[in-house]
Amino acid sequence: MTCAVGCLGAALAACGGPSPQHAARPGQSASAAAAPSKPPTLAPGPAGLTPVFTNGPRTQDKTVALTFDADMTADEGPRAEAGERFDNPQLIDTLRGFKVPATVFMTGRWAEEYPQEARAIGRDPLFEVANHSYSHYAFTSNCYGLPTVGEADMRGDVERAYAAFKKAGVPKAMPYFRFPGGCYDQRALRALSAVGVTAVQWDVVSGDAFATDADAVARQVLEGVKPGSVVVMHCTRSAAPTTEQALRTIVPELRKQGFRFVKVSELIGQTAAGHR
Ligand SMILES: [Zn+2]
Repeated sequence: MTCAVGCLGAALAACGGPSPQHAARPGQSASAAAAPSKPPTLAPGPAGLTPVFTNGPRTQDKTVALTFDADMTADEGPRAEAGERFDNPQLIDTLRGFKVPATVFMTGRWAEEYPQEARAIGRDPLFEVANHSYSHYAFTSNCYGLPTVGEADMRGDVERAYAAFKKAGVPKAMPYFRFPGGCYDQRALRALSAVGVTAVQWDVVSGDAFATDADAVARQVLEGVKPGSVVVMHCTRSAAPTTEQALRTIVPELRKQGFRFVKVSELIGQTAAGHR
């Protein structure tokens, strides 16, 4: 299925898929509830190029978006079968316990492996599910040793992830896409222009990938966060084993400093509205 943002909502509402709540509003922020339930996006660049979002407005309103990449690569099925855990339910529980809204950038392959978790995250108003490709293959060459997606397959890979989310029962995935490894170029932005997504990068690297010291991860985040920041973390136990523990320091400390946790959609909404 080829579906730009404009028809995403309509397609999901009409699909009558696994979710009986097709008419339910996602019910997020007040502004989202007042408008038709179309998530905010950035305007495309020249020649319709996919826009790239890095952080929200640096205003006095101290907002910060924690984002979690639910990584699983298309060829990691045998490793999951052998017992490796690419999910992290404890981390999701901790976010719920703290009532911290978050955006989960999920690969389609992850949703196939953990459909119940994908569905539960997708149906929880505390969270939003965004797209991290189906395969977690890189959209440029030389990206952390990841295998690469050919230009002709880029759009299909992103759309295949949306199909996987829908099949898992995620009622409404957001039109936000995070490039695997964060690697992109003009060619990749052009290849995705018809999908209608906003590419989402970050301005704070948590360093949680393969970290062994939760305190070091927490310190790096706390030193990096500014109003409007987007923090990249991982929701994958095997590759980011200390993230949940680091959150137990990060969340109370940022709240003490007056930060409010928001989803990426809220930061994009503020940015699209011209920082007002
Ligand atoms: Zn990733």
